[in-house]
Amino acid sequence: MPSSAPLPPAPASPSPGSPSPATTSGRRSGTAEAPRVQRRTFLSGTAAVGGAFAVTAAGVSPALAAEPVRAGGTRGAGPVTVRPNDRRYADLRRGTNQRWVGSPQKIVLAETTADVVAAVQRAVDSGRRLAVRSGGHCYEDFTTSQDIEIVLDLSRMDDVSYDRRRRAFSVQPGAPLGRIYDRLYKGWGVYLPAGNCPTVAAGGHIQGGGYGSMSRRDGLAVDHLYGIEIVVVRADGTARTVVATREPDDPHRELWWAHTGGGGGNFGVVTRYWLRSPGATGTDPAAQLPTPPREVWLSEVAWPWERLSEARFTRLMRNHGDWHTRHSGPDSPYTALFSQLKTFHRSAGAVVLDSLVDAGAPDAEGMLRRYVAAVGEGLGIRPQVRQYRRMPWLHATQWPGFTGPDPTIRFKGKSVYARRTYADAHIAAAYRHLTRDDFGNPGALLMIASYGGAVNRVAPDATAVPQRDSVLKYQVVSLWDDAADDAANVGWVRECYRDMFAATGGVPVPNGTTDGCFVNYADVDLADPRWNSSGVPWHELYYKDGYRRLQRVKAAWDPTGFFRHAQSVRHV
Ligand SMILES: Cc1cc2nc3c(=O)[nH]c(=O)nc-3n(C[C@H](O)[C@H](O)[C@H](O)COP(=O)(O)OP(=O)(O)OC[C@H]3O[C@@H](n4cnc5c(N)ncnc54)[C@H](O)[C@@H]3O)c2cc1C
Repeated sequence: MPSSAPLPPAPASPSPGSPSPATTSGRRSGTAEAPRVQRRTFLSGTAAVGGAFAVTAAGVSPALAAEPVRAGGTRGAGPVTVRPNDRRYADLRRGTNQRWVGSPQKIVLAETTADVVAAVQRAVDSGRRLAVRSGGHCYEDFTTSQDIEIVLDLSRMDDVSYDRRRRAFSVQPGAPLGRIYDRLYKGWGVYLPAGNCPTVAAGGHIQGGGYGSMSRRDGLAVDHLYGIEIVVVRADGTARTVVATREPDDPHRELWWAHTGGGGGNFGVVTRYWLRSPGATGTDPAAQLPTPPREVWLSEVAWPWERLSEARFTRLMRNHGDWHTRHSGPDSPYTALFSQLKTFHRSAGAVVLDSLVDAGAPDAEGMLRRYVAAVGEGLGIRPQVRQYRRMPWLHATQWPGFTGPDPTIRFKGKSVYARRTYADAHIAAAYRHLTRDDFGNPGALLMIASYGGAVNRVAPDATAVPQRDSVLKYQVVSLWDDAADDAANVGWVRECYRDMFAATGGVPVPNGTTDGCFVNYADVDLADPRWNSSGVPWHELYYKDGYRRLQRVKAAWDPTGFFRHAQSVRHV
């Protein structure tokens, strides 16, 4: 059992993605074509998905002596095709966000890369619109829009293993993050600094620049991406597989680069990721990715809304933003600490701060106490301590307190990269919307994640994630159950966000304070002049100058524009 103790009050103290010829061609070889958890779990996710101070553990991994471990998959059924009259259709026509239900003619569940090539080839040959889905956690309807005729579902391609030849971990796109953490840790004692939700899958997550609670310590998932295997469609309409790595002499390196933050559904179907940290040496698998903390301290504290005046709310937000401005450099000891500040709508009763710190970091508990004290400083309210416990790392990644989401939810989110603390106008608008009386969803909030640290050690153009000096990453988000509440909730999210960034056209444009939006939190409103009057196009908010480079990759690797959705990279 994890230990449990109250979080003692403390005075604030100053401190803190080898060149490879086509391996499979569709025209030549193809032959065929998630228990309910509570909504709160999505909201409370500070999952202890950790990272490492040192790249390797001492000694040789037990796995070294063995052949690559085949860890996943429902093998043997072959590709499965589900059509509307199949009992499975109702389940498979949708993703996580229940705002949309697709109406594809068929859903093809691939089991191998060859299945993917064949399915893509058939779609090309028949002129039908195909969308690829791995974990189904897309924020928008990119795999469920009504014009999609075929869904290529990769959820059965979920193997996690070690590839000796490439000296890298091989992860198939359908592998959910929870499985990846489990397999990498149990097999080799390593991990990938990626997202907090265990049911998000590698497929869309990694190429969108996935981040999580250990990213301050070990960077983004893409910072450890060595290569990809991808099925693309050539100008002559032939589907084929290609391997692209970050090796400097790889002629396909730009295709790898585009998958270090370009986002899903743009260039082809990723059928495998290879993971190896830059600079990793030797042949020991345990030395190729970071090691996570052995244990973490977790805390949850809350300030009741009934005691939060606007002045106190403003103070809390300033405290929080100032702390992150000061303590988010790559070399700060506080990179061992991550938190999510959840400023729920007043109807939820409280503003909550979930925090996590590597229990092995020097003075870990002291850092946590000082952080919580700094955020609450000057409020004159003692926060309620709801949770304070020490937990082994893997256990924490699987702990129900961090899992989610409720598979029946509907949600809308809009994201923000922040380079420094909040402007007063951001706080004032947030307060207004969080205390609105004409709207009362306790599932509406600002979910504000600690950022920076090791993320900011990487050059802006080294990957397709250009935001490399932000200290906070957050979203205005609402979660609800009933379709009848769609308009009110989507409206609340849009209006809150628009008003927070009213001075910059309703969006967090790249400037001294904010730095655009996160492509993994896709938001079609960014391309809608009603919600973005900044003059800064959606693609600049996501990719900044990198968009031109992504467009060149698109032209080279998806010349027919076969892979597309409402916000996909356009041809030059
Ligand atoms: C509850 C929840 C929690 C989240 N938590 C985090 C988090 O902690 N950190 C974070 O960074 N993000 C987080 N996200 C965002 C998540 O990373 C993105 O939504 C991601 O794109 C989901 O990937 P997926 O494969 O699960 O989704 P899907 O809906 O299957 O795919 C998303 C997009 O990628 C495309 N795609 C999927 N697989 C492939 C493939 N193999 N090849 C090419 N394109 C593909 C799809 O066509 C679609 O456009 C969260 C999302 C949700 C809903």
